[in-house]
Amino acid sequence: MGEHSQPLDLEEALYRIRQDLNPVTESEVIATGVASGRILASTVNAPLNLPPFRASAMDGYALRLDEDAIQAAQPYEIVGESLAGHPWSGTLAPGQCARVFTGAVVPEGANQVIPQEEVRAREGNRVFFSGHQPSEKFVRPIGHDVAQGAVLLPAGTYLSAFAIGTLITAGVQHVTVRRKLRVGVFSTGDELVDLSVSAQALKPGQIYDSNRATVLALLANEPCELSDLGRIPDEHAATEAALTAGAEKCDFLITSGGVSVGDADFVTRSIRQLGQLEFWKLNLKPGKPLAMGRIGECVLLGLPGNPVSTIVTLLLVAKPAIRHVAGDTRRTSLIAAQAELTTPLRHAPGRAEFQRGTAEMTQGRIFVASTGDQASNRMSSFTQSNCLIHIPKEAGDLTAGTRVEILPFEGLLA
Ligand code: AMP
Ligand code: MG
Repeated sequence: MGEHSQPLDLEEALYRIRQDLNPVTESEVIATGVASGRILASTVNAPLNLPPFRASAMDGYALRLDEDAIQAAQPYEIVGESLAGHPWSGTLAPGQCARVFTGAVVPEGANQVIPQEEVRAREGNRVFFSGHQPSEKFVRPIGHDVAQGAVLLPAGTYLSAFAIGTLITAGVQHVTVRRKLRVGVFSTGDELVDLSVSAQALKPGQIYDSNRATVLALLANEPCELSDLGRIPDEHAATEAALTAGAEKCDFLITSGGVSVGDADFVTRSIRQLGQLEFWKLNLKPGKPLAMGRIGECVLLGLPGNPVSTIVTLLLVAKPAIRHVAGDTRRTSLIAAQAELTTPLRHAPGRAEFQRGTAEMTQGRIFVASTGDQASNRMSSFTQSNCLIHIPKEAGDLTAGTRVEILPFEGLLA
């Protein structure tokens, strides 16, 4: 793959990432309890039926009813009681019933559970029901959720909270997962200081390094072993040394800043010198300068330095790239919803734009408002936002009422 100098559309960049980067292949066996956020390397089949026994879906009475409906005048004799975790081991004969509770075993001989709301009267151990048609809807058959041996979760699944719950429900004690990606995160820039410097002690021109911490936090639930590799000064030799050392111990390096065409932008230059630069510019706002390259086996993503651009490109490009290299084959697209704009948006045709928005659901309709001035240095455009508003590259200004696509932050990939 040669270097691509034309700006790429986001979709093309993601396509190239999926085509050109190889997922890690090594795997390990770990306990299900610590597997959250990992990627399954092998398909898990259900070791048992779920539910493993016929279970009651209601509190009520289990009994046998064949063709005929219950006569309201006919009593049933209560001969047992089946509670969750405490089954009744008897067998019901015609005319008999057992008290059952939700999640309890439905006794042998029974094919019905009649909810207790349908009890008309109870006299001692005799119970009278309102008229009732035969129905099995309150008996959960064996294997009705998952049949033994069926695919519980396919290889390539990201283990979300739901997936962990599913594995534990089925009694899966261990899973084979891909090894974690070793991801190193750098920031770049002589203007940056960390929080050990107080706000009063900031020198003119200095700002706090927020990108490194934001990137690390945004990757916290990804299948990665994260390394905070610190800040690279704006100097060619130091940039080359840092990237060389980082590439030796990481599968993936993420930097922010130093990728545009300014004099102090050493990241792109260093990637070219140390390895290959695959592409460098995206047709994207924010996020035009974004370098993707390789140094040896290590993939390098140079994100733009403006904090808004860093975050947007991390979400739209770096996270999907990391998921792909980590072996996730299931979540290959971002999740979008349709919403109605409540504020007009300005947009010049040319680049796809992702503005920060606040979406709200009212009476079944989703409305979205821009968070105001979208300048890429304004972290405050994220305040109150819960989604990105996608403005297609060919669109002009959008009026209030226009239908737009939004990408919710929650569940963007999970
Ligand atoms: P650059 O691409 O390096 O020219 O950075 C673009 C803008 O983002 C500049 O205003 C930088 O000061 C700012 N910036 C770069 N890195 C960071 C960072 N780690 N935290 C906060 N702001 C940054
Ligand atoms: Mg810089």
